[in-house]
This record gives sequence, C-alpha cells and structure tokens, in this order.
Amino acid sequence: MLNEAAVAEAAAGPATAGSWVVHKFGGSSLADAGCFRRVAGIVSGLDEPRVALVLSACRGVTDSLIGLVTAAEGGHRDTCRAGIARLRERHEAIAAELLDPPARRAFLATFHADLGDLERLLDAIALVRSAGTDMRDRVAGFGELWSSRLFTAYLYASAPERPARWLDVREIVVVEWGPLGPGVQWGPSRQGAARLLTPDTAGVLVIPGFVATDSRGLQTTLGRNGSDFSASIFGALLGAREIVIWTDVSGVLSADPGEVPDARVIASLSYSEAMELAYFGATVIHPQTMAPAFEQDIPIRIRNTFAPEETGTTIVAQPAPGERVKGITSIRDVALVNLEGAGMIGVPGTAHRLFGALHEAGISVILISQGSSEHSICCAVPAAQAALAERAVRRAFLAELRDGQIQSVAVGGACAIVAVVGDGMAQQHGIAGKLFQAFGQAGINVRAIAQGASQRNISAVIDDRDTSKALRAVHAAFYLSPHTLSIGLIGPGTIGSVLLGQLDSQVERLRRDFFLDLRVRGIATSTRMLLADGAIDLSRWREQLVREGEPLDLDRFTAHVAAEHLPHRVMIDCTADSGVAGRYADWLRAGLHVVTPNKKANSAELAEFRRIRAAKRAAGTQYFYEATVGAGLPIILTVRDLRETGDRIREIEGILSGTLAYLFNVFDGSVPFSEVVKDAKARGLTEPDPRDDLSGMDVARKLVILGREMGLDLELSEVRVESLVPPPLRDCSIDDFIARLPGYDCAMRALLEESRQAGQVLRYVARLTAAGEATVALERLDASHAFANIALTDNVVRFATDRYCDNALVVQGPGAGPAVTAAGVFSDLLRLAAGLGAHL
Ligand code: ADP
Ligand code: ASP
Ligand code: MG
Repeated sequence: MLNEAAVAEAAAGPATAGSWVVHKFGGSSLADAGCFRRVAGIVSGLDEPRVALVLSACRGVTDSLIGLVTAAEGGHRDTCRAGIARLRERHEAIAAELLDPPARRAFLATFHADLGDLERLLDAIALVRSAGTDMRDRVAGFGELWSSRLFTAYLYASAPERPARWLDVREIVVVEWGPLGPGVQWGPSRQGAARLLTPDTAGVLVIPGFVATDSRGLQTTLGRNGSDFSASIFGALLGAREIVIWTDVSGVLSADPGEVPDARVIASLSYSEAMELAYFGATVIHPQTMAPAFEQDIPIRIRNTFAPEETGTTIVAQPAPGERVKGITSIRDVALVNLEGAGMIGVPGTAHRLFGALHEAGISVILISQGSSEHSICCAVPAAQAALAERAVRRAFLAELRDGQIQSVAVGGACAIVAVVGDGMAQQHGIAGKLFQAFGQAGINVRAIAQGASQRNISAVIDDRDTSKALRAVHAAFYLSPHTLSIGLIGPGTIGSVLLGQLDSQVERLRRDFFLDLRVRGIATSTRMLLADGAIDLSRWREQLVREGEPLDLDRFTAHVAAEHLPHRVMIDCTADSGVAGRYADWLRAGLHVVTPNKKANSAELAEFRRIRAAKRAAGTQYFYEATVGAGLPIILTVRDLRETGDRIREIEGILSGTLAYLFNVFDGSVPFSEVVKDAKARGLTEPDPRDDLSGMDVARKLVILGREMGLDLELSEVRVESLVPPPLRDCSIDDFIARLPGYDCAMRALLEESRQAGQVLRYVARLTAAGEATVALERLDASHAFANIALTDNVVRFATDRYCDNALVVQGPGAGPAVTAAGVFSDLLRLAAGLGAHL
C-alpha cells in the first residue's frame, strides 16, 4: 500500500506530466447521446496530459432514483418497475448510439447486474415500507456509476491513443455525515487515492461524482448536487492546478437566469462570494465545493458545455476588482419563526434554547434576526418543516408561554429570502439603502432582515410570491440589468399614437444609454386590446392590433400590465374618458403608477380627487399629469416647485387653451369668426366638436387642476365660466352648429371693433386667486399686455407669488398639439422612471 507521501508524489506527478486538471460535467451536460459526444469532443480538445473527469448522472436520473425509493416506501411496486424500465431504456439507447457491440455488451453486463440489484433493493424497501439511509444512498448513487462507465467505454473507443480509465470512487473518497453534512476523511481518502494511483499515473481518469463511501465501507453520497464537491475533493487529492465545472450556463450569473432574464456572467468571484451565492440559492455550484479548493488555493472555473468558447467565471481567493454587489439570489419556500415576549429582555439563554429546540427537531436554520431590544427573535426555516418547528418551539417555551413571559410563537409560511452578495459591500455605505429602496419602490414588504458581520451578504425575508419581482427590482437597482417598466397604454388616438411613435424612436437609446427598459406590454382602444408578454413591436402596433387584438377587457388588461414578475408597472391613459379616469384610484392602490394627459380625474369631484391621492399615498405609487395643462409646458411642475420651496401663489392668470388662443390670434376681422372656427376645425386644432373648446369647460377644468395643485379645494362648479357658444346652439348637432354659427358673426365682429378702438385685443383668459376665486372669460386686454402678443397656439401662464411679486414668473410656449402633448406625457414617464431609481 502506498503511503501519503506517495500520494503527494502521485499528485505532483513526474516532472514531464505536469499537474492535474479536474473537469466536472454536470447532469445538464449529460442529457443524451448527443451530449456525451459533445463532452467527449471537449475532452479530446484538452491538451492537458493529466485530466480527471468527474461526471454526474445523466440529467434527471438522480431525481428518478430518489423517486423510486419514495414509490417503494409507498409500496408502489408497479411504479418502481416502470421507473426501472425507463432508466434501462434511456441508458441502453445512449449505449446503442455510442458503443460498438463488444463495448456495449461489456457495459450492459454490469448495467443489467446493477438493475437487478436496484430491483431487489426496491423490493426490500417495499417490503418494510421504509428505506434506511444506507439503502437510499446505494440507490441514489447508481446514476453516476452508469454515466461514468458508459462515458469511459465511449471515450476509450473514440480516443484509443489516450485510454480513459474508470476509477472506482468508492475506494477513494471516505466521508462521515455529521450535523454539517458530509465531512471528508482526508487521511483514509488520501490512502485510497494512493492505492489506485501511482506517481506516474497520467492520461484521462473518469470518476463518478456524488458517490463516496463511509468509514464502514458502505456506499454513501455527498448530498444533492454533490458532484461539484467530488470535483473539488479530487482537486485537493490530486493537487490539481485548476477545477473546471462544466454546466449549461456560461458561468455564475448575477442572478438565477430563470428568474432574471437579464442576468449577466460574473467574470470573477472570491471563494467566499461564491460560497454565499451558492448557499443562498445559486444552484450552479454547490457551497461545499469551495472548502477543499480554498484550502489549497486551487482556482475553480465555471464553463458552458454548450458554449465552450466563452471564458466563464473564475473563482479564486483574490479576484480582480469588480462590482460591489456581485450577485443576487433567493431561497424559496421558507417559513419565519417569530418568538416574542417581554420576558426575554436581558435574559441570557433564550436564543440558545430556541435554536437548541430547532436543532433537536432536526431543523436547519437558514437566517436569524434579532432586534437589539431582545424583545423578539426571528429565524427562517424550510417551509416544509414549519409545523415541526412550531411544535418544537412551543414545547421548549411551554412554561414561559403559560406564564406570559413569552407572548407569542408565530410561524408563518410562504416566504422567500432574497440576498445580495459581494465582498465589496464591506465598509461601503449606501448598499443597504439601495436594496431597501428597491424593495420599497417595487411595493415589496420586507418581513425580516439580516446582515452578517462579514458584510458580504444582506438578506431580506419577503413574501414568496414577490420573489421574481424582488430579484428583478434589486438586480436593476444595482445596475446589473436595466430598469424595466411594464407599460399599458389606453387610447392610441391623436396623442396616444404620437406617444407610441416617440417611444418607438427612443426605446433603444434609453436602454443603451440609461439602462432603462420601457416595455409597452398592452395597448387598448375603446373596443380592442393588444397584449404582449415581452414588449409590443411599436413599429407595427396598428397591424398587430387589427390582426392579433382581442375584445377589450380592461380588468384583464390591467392584470396583464400588472405582471407580478416585473418590478414597476404603469398605466398611461391617453383618452379623455371619465370611465378610464375612474379607475386611477384602484390602479394606484394595486401598485400601478399612472401617467396621463386626461383632465377628467383631476377635475372630477373633490371626493374622487381625494380618493386618488389617498390611494397613491397608501400604496406609495406615483401619479403624473403634467400634460393635463399646457401640454408639454412645465406648468404643474412650476406650481409644485413654488409650493414645495415655501413660496405662496397669490394669483395665476393665463391663456390655457391653445385652440382659443389660436382663434383669437387669427380673428382680425378680415374673415368672419365662424370661418376662423371652421378653418381651425379643418386643421385639427379644435376638438371634434368645437363647442368643447368654445364652451370654456376645458379651460375651467385646467383651472381646477391648477387650483388643487395650489392646495385649494376647488370644484368645477365653482369656476365662473363665460361660454362662447351662443345659448341657442348648445344642444344642436355639430353640423347644425357649424351651419348656424355665422348667424352670430356680427356680434363677434362688433366686440372686436369695440376693443380695437380702445387699443385692446380679445383674449380668452383664466384667472385664479389664492382665495379660490376662479373665472374663465373673454377679456379685452391692452395691446401691450403680455398675453396680447403670443404666437398661434401658445399657452401662457403668469404666476404672481410672494417671491415673484414685482415681476411675475411666466411660462409660455406651444400649449396644444399632439407632438408637444405626447412629449409632455413622455417626460412624465421618464420622471417616473428616474424616481424609481433609473439614472437618467
Ligand atoms: P449541472 O447539472 O451542470 O450541475 P445545475 O442544474 O446543477 O447544473 O446548475 C446549473 C443551473 O443553475 C443553471 O441552468 C441555472 O438555471 C441555475 N442557476 C441558478 N442560479 C444561478 C446563477 N446565479 N448563475 C448561474 N446559474 C444559476
Ligand atoms: N446527480 C446528483 C444530483 O442530482 C449529483 C450532481 O449531479 O451533482 O444531486
Ligand atoms: Mg449541479
């Protein structure tokens, strides 16, 4: 028998052979014959003279074997037989495709003998309806024995010049299972390696992963996903230069790609970072893998079997500097155990008893959090053990619960833990702030928090159903992926369709330059809707709406836009509809932000307006409506800034209707007023019914919106409105109105003449005072007045305030038209995104 010195020598190898490199191929790389070929191709391309291959079972085989044990325990012999038959077919098919007859016969002889053993084992289990650990381990390990034997035979035949040798891992790796899982017995393991390997062993070794033996010589395993650990153990036993873990993704990603599609490959990680990520749910590598590699400072590389040209992730002691937060992970299906009571304050030993009780019940604690008041301790355990945990803790504190020193033991399920990981987080301020801000903005409630003293990991317990949303929001908050907004647009009419065009031309740039991902996932007209899981192609939405659209169902539309997995959702209402506006409060309460140019909500009755505000405040959502007044001009913003900085608005006056501004700018007496109206209508400058403009109601609504923004409790009915629609024409049809309007030209003409003679002009002006006096009327203004000299559809608003008293603050510019109004909505959308954390 070789001694340990000889193993060390074997590990170092003869000077010519160089050191070993361990390559582990996971089950995902060994799904079928094609995968075996691919792996063999990778192996033959390795120019290292000493290659140790550690193989997992073919994909899903371990799960099937464990399923068979469960079936046997239930006495379901038929299920067992059918399961064995499937495993036989699957392996035979791979063998038939890859091995020539003699090699196949040799493989099948051992394989069939194993299947016989498997059947007898399952029969025995079925008989006693219970499987001991030894039996379970024996069954679970078959998958690796089969895949590795099959692969050795294939490699042996396909590369005879470099013969592959199968190594019986059960004669080498000795482990003892303890409370912390499988512990490697390094002495006996080194002796085992020395027995099978000589100092000049070289070439290709094929080793079954996952399987090991215990000190009694009985077959055991390294726990689920243990092949990674096998690779690292062999790395240490052989003194390997590198350990390569081949899998089906291109490295360790910044998040589970199944949850966060934008997850990116992390170029390098420290052992501790990889350990934290693995422990907190990144299944790509097993946490125990790190220890043997770390102790001997062997680099681990994660590479993609299906994209071998990619560099993957390197795990070393001192990685090159990278992001502070390297990755984000989650553990699903956990329950929170919360122990609460005044009797715990200052009393030593409560934690000891709590965790002692959980330990005795065989429950592993995933996370612990205790407030400094010691009034409560909370910990997270696997949800499957929640009931057991509750019983154990109640039993342990029976007396205290009875005496009231402990008030409650609460165990709540359906939680998940989300953790951010990175060595660079230590000594760095602002990380926790950003994390919890991201949760807050995505409307996610945090139930418990833990940060270890290493500051390498901050974990939060949240509701399980929020997991995807949380991962995406946090991932984006740390700039690991773009900020995604799920957008629903209602009313692709004049303004809405222009907005969609503007979005179409900017979406790519915003994504590239600002990491902002605006996804219009729904478009609804008054009768139809178009929904998309990803994003609607904005260059073709019209055709798609016709071809793939469905009848409108606003509830379903809302549910679609509010997709659970996307952190931020927003409704854009481009209609002028009160019915749609009536939904804002519900949307805001349900976590959808609202952006709109629709005046109906903010000028509705005060009670409704307050309902919207309350919903927004309660849910922490945002409501933007800059384009309701003055299109894209910063009018609402100005009112808000003035108020928030402590100024007091004394009076607002202005021309708030682009249409009316236009009519009175053009009306110079050369053509009758009715002609000016008709012409404006033809140019699309009026509402379809020009009376909507001429009645002054539109202006009155804007005044109400401004008034409420100033903090006034103003109702639409309180605005004194001078309508320009002659009373007899108020209720007739549009055509009738146009036909009969010339009948009133004379009066208008007389008004114009009168004011001209006084050196004045006609302007339709809105006024509002701090006392709440609101009027909208046709006024005669001096020709020198600021409002007298405005261009075509200009809006102008004059703010007289305590600060701007001698010289008022004036905002002026084009205040009507689809392009500027849509731009106003667009900038609200970007303001929303910025508030949600996007860096614009
Ligand atoms: P193998 O069979 O090769 O051992 P696993 O299924 O055990 O493969 O692990 C790879 C899988 O881990 C990936 O396909 C991916 O879905 C999942 N995964 C979860 N979190 C991460 C992460 N942070 N980075 C990479 N992969 C991850
Ligand atoms: N086949 C084992 C499992 O599925 C070990 C591994 O693949 O890592 O758990
Ligand atoms: Mg794995």
